[in-house]
Amino acid sequence: KLYNQVQDLKGNIRVYCRVRPFLTGQPNRFGAVDRLDEGSITIITPSKYGKEGRKSFSFNKVFGPLATQEEVFADTQPLIRSVLDGYNVCIFAYGQTGSGKTYTMTGPKDLTEESLGVNYRALSDLFLLSDQRKEVICYDISVQMLEIYNEQVRDLLATDEIRNSSQNGINVPDASLVSVSSPSDVLNLMNIGQRNRAVGATAMNDRSSRSHSCLTVHVQGRDLTSGAVLRGSMHLVDLAGSERVDKSEVTGDRLKEAQHINKSLSALGDVIASLAQKNSHVPYRNSKLTQLLQDSLGGQAKTLMFVHISPEADAHGETISTLKFAERVA
Ligand code: ADP
Ligand code: MG
Repeated sequence: KLYNQVQDLKGNIRVYCRVRPFLTGQPNRFGAVDRLDEGSITIITPSKYGKEGRKSFSFNKVFGPLATQEEVFADTQPLIRSVLDGYNVCIFAYGQTGSGKTYTMTGPKDLTEESLGVNYRALSDLFLLSDQRKEVICYDISVQMLEIYNEQVRDLLATDEIRNSSQNGINVPDASLVSVSSPSDVLNLMNIGQRNRAVGATAMNDRSSRSHSCLTVHVQGRDLTSGAVLRGSMHLVDLAGSERVDKSEVTGDRLKEAQHINKSLSALGDVIASLAQKNSHVPYRNSKLTQLLQDSLGGQAKTLMFVHISPEADAHGETISTLKFAERVA
């Protein structure tokens, strides 16, 4: 049954678009979105940016500002469940800073049960399903948390708090791989990773928007009768903000950061676009991010890209470039 659900997904690459609501206190009259339905979105080009016009983009799914975390997760669930059948899955959150990437993946700052993001829901669901199968398959689930900043990979779980757990990195040599057995284990680790990420953010107050963060889930299942072993993995990636910085306005470290982000996001776009076009050469080597995820992009692996849109008219330029990026990989 699960295999059928997975095969129902058209192709191995899907792109979902999510529009954040206006934030409280913001005037909501000057929106950039003209219309949206289940599979397409129409953006208004305000006249102050040239001739007023409209442009439509199509996606596998479009979530409007009223979509709940639960609804967003429901459409992601079959993909996540396929990990227990031995698939490799990558889920990306793309968009300019402030468009809702972290909200989708993790949730808002003050988390409630309803506002929990994809990461937590995914892990909870894997525990639930593995428990349902426990008479047949014995699953072992473990996680890694990494950050990529300026093309350097940092292990967010390399802290004394979890030194006593098994050190058994798969993708990154020596990155902590921590076995988890309940949703509260996962929340714990996510908090540790978050704290650790903040510790690195001394010089820049909002480093999180300029680094990629990746929660990787490794699943190993052993068939209790045959002894056969299957392995699946899932990478849940909150990407750095996609906004262009004005080269005339930034210098030094800030410019270097911007160039690294630009390079790795376009490398990711190139990889996914060449997979979508079934090119024989896939340019994985052009960034740390794509190197890290090489085994989970392409082949039988499944990819889901959430592209995030801010609803404000003054975000128009970034919104259009986000949608163009998405259109290219869809
Ligand atoms: P990003 O990670 O892309 O920089 P955030 O996820 O931090 O953006 O979102 C920016 C702000 O908007 C946060 O205060 C967040 O809680 C809020 N927000 C984002 N998406 C939604 C949503 N779908 N519903 C309600 N609030 C949202
Ligand atoms: Mg964020």
